Amino acid sequence: MGKVIAIDGPSGSGKSTISKKIADRLGYTYLDTGALYRSVALKLRNSSVPEDASDAEIASILKDTSVKVRDGDIYLDGALVGDEIRTTEIGHYSSVFSARKVVRDFLFDIQRSASDDNDIVAEGRDMTTVVFPDAYRKFFLTASDEERAGRRFRQLKDKGMDITVQQAMDDVKKRDERDSNRDIAPLKKAEDATMIDTSSMSIEQTIDIILEHITG
Ligand code: C5P
Repeated sequence: MGKVIAIDGPSGSGKSTISKKIADRLGYTYLDTGALYRSVALKLRNSSVPEDASDAEIASILKDTSVKVRDGDIYLDGALVGDEIRTTEIGHYSSVFSARKVVRDFLFDIQRSASDDNDIVAEGRDMTTVVFPDAYRKFFLTASDEERAGRRFRQLKDKGMDITVQQAMDDVKKRDERDSNRDIAPLKKAEDATMIDTSSMSIEQTIDIILEHITG
């Protein structure tokens, strides 16, 4: 099993950008677990599965679903997953379906096995608490609501999506509320994780702090 740097935090805390850069600097593989939940949500939506579907209905679709991670890239039913999972709509459904045990169980081994032969930087909501409780280093990134909404807004705008600041604020708030209050694997800081508030920090400053903790 490879070394795991586990990073959790709410949407817009900067964890994707930062995790990717840290993986690059260390020569580790980057594992974006939010993208796995988004890919499953895309499959369920494309299969017309409603939000209140039964476990059996979700399981019957997942039985015929293949999700593979190769060098940090995600393949859904054999096809490379791209920006189609980055919409606010799929963000919403990923948050809804990720609260279901049947979905979390489906993705558990896929996430764990990503570190079988590689050192990884794994980023998500339950990396430090559930998936890699034994990680080599653990971090919890956070930022103010305004800052997180602003970052989400700029991120989606950069992807050419039509969104207002208010919609971005609603998106991060609603998802974080659901992600933090669900029964299974809620978003929370692990006791042994280092908390970093990135509100007034640049990406480079945050990376420096994290690297100091890892290598120092
Ligand atoms: O990180 P990202 O915003 O892409 O994640 C999309 C959604 O996937 C989150 O809102 C959350 O509901 C879910 N997720 C999760 N556990 C993870 C990663 C993401 O429940 N480890």
